[in-house]
Amino acid sequence: MTITANNPNNKTWLEVPQNSDFPIQNIPFGVFQTQDGVIRIGTRIGNTAIDLGALQQLNYFEDIDLAADTFLGDSLNEFIAHPKAVWTAVRNRIAFIFDALNETLKNNTSHREEVLFDVAKTTSLLPVQIGDYTDFFSSKEHATNTGTMFRDPENALLPNWLHIPVGYHGRSSSIVVSGTEIYRPKGQTIAADAKQPTFGASRLVDFELEMAFITTNANELGETVSVADAENHIFGMVLFNDWSARDIQKWEYVPLGPFLGKNFASTISPWIVMLDALEPYRVTSPKQEPKPLEYLQQTGEKAFDIKLSVGITPENGKETILSNSNFKYMYWTMAQQLAHHTINGCNARAGDMMGSGTISGPTPDSYGSMLELAWRGTKPVNLNDGSQRKFINDNDTVTMYAYCEKNGVRIGFGSCEGKLLPTK
Ligand code: MN
Repeated sequence: MTITANNPNNKTWLEVPQNSDFPIQNIPFGVFQTQDGVIRIGTRIGNTAIDLGALQQLNYFEDIDLAADTFLGDSLNEFIAHPKAVWTAVRNRIAFIFDALNETLKNNTSHREEVLFDVAKTTSLLPVQIGDYTDFFSSKEHATNTGTMFRDPENALLPNWLHIPVGYHGRSSSIVVSGTEIYRPKGQTIAADAKQPTFGASRLVDFELEMAFITTNANELGETVSVADAENHIFGMVLFNDWSARDIQKWEYVPLGPFLGKNFASTISPWIVMLDALEPYRVTSPKQEPKPLEYLQQTGEKAFDIKLSVGITPENGKETILSNSNFKYMYWTMAQQLAHHTINGCNARAGDMMGSGTISGPTPDSYGSMLELAWRGTKPVNLNDGSQRKFINDNDTVTMYAYCEKNGVRIGFGSCEGKLLPTK
């Protein structure tokens, strides 16, 4: 199915502020609650939230092969379970309904009242009911930095790293939407020179600047998804802050990997940007040497040029941007990650979420975690209020941003924000 919604010349009859992350060419998908308490599945253009359930009931999706209750629940899982051609058709149709040259809805006051809401008067909810969550470790710069810090600078990458998109199974219950406050976790840690661990609040809470993709029902148990077909099973992407307690992580992670240092919270941005919307921003991924095994070999442009940044805002203070990175730095692509995840026959389902792993760029101002930015606490980072950070303080708010820009069109992800509260 041809994508018509990406045309840079498309204009909308809705008002869109300049530099909005959500022009008519974006059309992301999310779930929001209006002031009457109703939960609605929708999209947004500029600062207008759009109820897709209402649009469907008013027959605006006529002739698209959608189940009748697709947009009447409280998550996008049902929509995502439809074939990719249906996702594309719905997004194209939304672009048409709101096109400046189409006055059907524009001139229908009662329909507009049912469909359109001021984003400022809505509350964003989790867009999907996340079944399973997997986190990868796919930035070579991040893996090299952590390997250098904790093991051996000469052999920073473990022998498997250049052959396998390394990952682990995370926990979905604690994935929350942007704006949700996070409590500093408690747990076991061990001091550098101690023989016994102690119990208490983590002292080394960190963010991880990541993006995550959401899959559809990609394969049956026992079947695999090829790297060439993988993107057909990826609905879209969100920003992802994989909060991490480094001191808890360090003590617990051998031999089975991340556990309580990771699963106390992860924050996602509320609007899922479809892979369709990201098509114009494809770029070549980093050259892979040695050549991966055949089932991981890919052709074409499988990376995306998505500019990323992360900032810390102290309580009652101003934000300091600490890092500017880019999703294109990822060594292993999403297609390779999904192909690898299913190569053993593991089934991916609609609403599953897969994190990229911390996205660090090549320079120190592009690192994706405090661990790297402050180099394990040895190079504290300056905030613009004169204070310093090695990790995240109580009542700091961490905010991540992502957008693509080309030919005058900016496709953004909004923000992914969370405030760290003291231990509960
Ligand atoms: Mn992570």
